[in-house]
Amino acid sequence: MDLEQLYRQVIMEHYKRPKNKGLLNNDSYELIHLNNPSCGDEIAVEVLYEDDTIKDIRHDGKGCSICCSSASIMSVMLKDKQVDDAKKIIYEYYEMIKGYPFNDQILNGDILAYQGVTKFPARIKCATLAWKAIEVLLEKHGGDRNNGW
Ligand code: ZN
Repeated sequence: MDLEQLYRQVIMEHYKRPKNKGLLNNDSYELIHLNNPSCGDEIAVEVLYEDDTIKDIRHDGKGCSICCSSASIMSVMLKDKQVDDAKKIIYEYYEMIKGYPFNDQILNGDILAYQGVTKFPARIKCATLAWKAIEVLLEKHGGDRNNGW
């Protein structure tokens, strides 16, 4: 099996058996909805914090395999991370998706399957929709905390 096949398998696995899928609709979670009109992807992401740690991430929605699978893998990668560390992972992911050099200490394992998206610019929005959603939530979390001071 070549690398491209392996990557396709990773993506299909997360598409068919997504992790952390389904919203809990619990008031302790912060929720966001985002759409990608160019492909018809719709996604909702919710996050639960404990201080500055991401205790849980849930996602739901419909869309193409790239979008739905990347929401699943995003939830796996960022769960139990500190907010600041999660932001670093998000940054490196965008660099990888855009085809720029990225830090392979921070990004490794299954997430590398999305490197191939670089070759399909139309799919970049699909691959980043769930990541944009969590990014907006994390930015809001920082803001809320500072406002509290
Ligand atoms: Zn899509």
